[in-house]
Amino acid sequence: MAQRNLYLFNTLSRQKELFRPIEPDHVGMYVCGPTVYGEPHLGHARPAITFDLLYRYLKHIGYKVRYVRNITDVGHLEHDADEGEDKIAKKAKLEQLEPMEIAQFYTNSFHQAMDMLNVLPPSIEPHATGHIIEQEELVKQILANGYAYESHGSVYFDVEKYNRDHRYGILSNRNLTDVINHSRDLSGQEEKHNQVDFALWKKAQPEHIMRWPSPWSDGFPGWHCECTAMGRKYLGEQFDIHGGGMDLIFPHHECEIAQAVAAQGKPMVRYWMHNNMITINGQKMGKSLGNFITLQQFFSGSHEKLAEAYSPMTIRFFILQAHYRSTVDFSNEALQASRKGLERLLDAVKTLRRIEASDHAAVTTAYTDELRDKCYDALSDDLNSPIVISHLFDACRIVNQLSDKTTTISTEALEALKQIFQTFCFDLLGLREEANGGNEREESFGAAVNLLLELRAKAKADKDWATSDKIRDELAAAGFEVKDTKDGAIWKLNR
Ligand code: ZN
Repeated sequence: MAQRNLYLFNTLSRQKELFRPIEPDHVGMYVCGPTVYGEPHLGHARPAITFDLLYRYLKHIGYKVRYVRNITDVGHLEHDADEGEDKIAKKAKLEQLEPMEIAQFYTNSFHQAMDMLNVLPPSIEPHATGHIIEQEELVKQILANGYAYESHGSVYFDVEKYNRDHRYGILSNRNLTDVINHSRDLSGQEEKHNQVDFALWKKAQPEHIMRWPSPWSDGFPGWHCECTAMGRKYLGEQFDIHGGGMDLIFPHHECEIAQAVAAQGKPMVRYWMHNNMITINGQKMGKSLGNFITLQQFFSGSHEKLAEAYSPMTIRFFILQAHYRSTVDFSNEALQASRKGLERLLDAVKTLRRIEASDHAAVTTAYTDELRDKCYDALSDDLNSPIVISHLFDACRIVNQLSDKTTTISTEALEALKQIFQTFCFDLLGLREEANGGNEREESFGAAVNLLLELRAKAKADKDWATSDKIRDELAAAGFEVKDTKDGAIWKLNR
């Protein structure tokens, strides 16, 4: 398919820009992935779903995309929360586990939640701990170029010197004075030339378990290093898109820009994209506020703030009903409205399957061509998923009229309408039909039954009637009714 014009809001230029990749048909895209020292929560779902939509759309309009999303498995110090203790190491000590056991455990949880949300896996998922050498190389380059200094076994980025030659604060639109006045990072104060300097390499304290040798000390890289080092390794010195949540603009992405420019003399990223945050009843989500809800708790309904369980597709639809740059406020009412909206959409898809076309119909391809264009225009306008959804809701009204036989549709328009729902609802918005409110076991059942029916079709084609009858009879005994149609076998579970 010909590539459509796609406009994306670039945080760096603070405006929508026509997207033009560095290479004509290829897109390099890096998104900051999860820190794996806790269960995935609603805050993880939003960037994952936002950039999943972008990934799906870029591929759909004809680009080859290399999508890199990292795993932060070095347990970085979080000063305001944990008094400088490494989170993974702390948990490992308490539970007597290898730090990598903790990281693997939560990586698995994250992957499971992403599968349930129908978030496609990235092309490459590099781990920070697997790229210590690349991060050390980055630090060496920055030191060699004079934008960092060593102090007591740690290495710090010299923000003031960098700001004299370039501009620190270009992404978050701050100047150095603002940054100094708002700096809360008081760690390593006595080692730093300036309180705004950030660590590129930290010397490990004796109790620190995750540590690696380096020319400066046994220690670990500063958090911002990993994305610069891994982005450059897999996508090159300059690549197209870097994304993440808005909370990462400062300091994480600001520091990434400074590191890249200090190391290679030019910026690494063309388009910076950021999704807005999720609040819960108007408040930021946080453990201390008692409103910290994991994705598994949403799926099972096991949290006191939840009135019911919400299926993964309800969560996905809820997130897509807001534009990615607007805030989303979670409430039970909002999620229940999303569940109903999603049901309406999926019911229309089911209804559409049994609609029959007629001659001299009222609804023609003039309608479906316009609908398709409007949906593409919305996605091409900075991924405006809520507008796409509103166009699909409009189409649901037509489907209901067709079902009530108050209007008629031509053969071509019917096929086009089915295709539009397939493309936008399923392929691009990434929704899927959930059996009984998203029970994953039912989906697995379905996959297994479909496999048996494939084997039966093959047996029939081979005229192996004994096997084909056995599969049908055994499925019937287990409660599955199989019906042969001209498009193949269909089944339903009789209860
Ligand atoms: Zn990052």
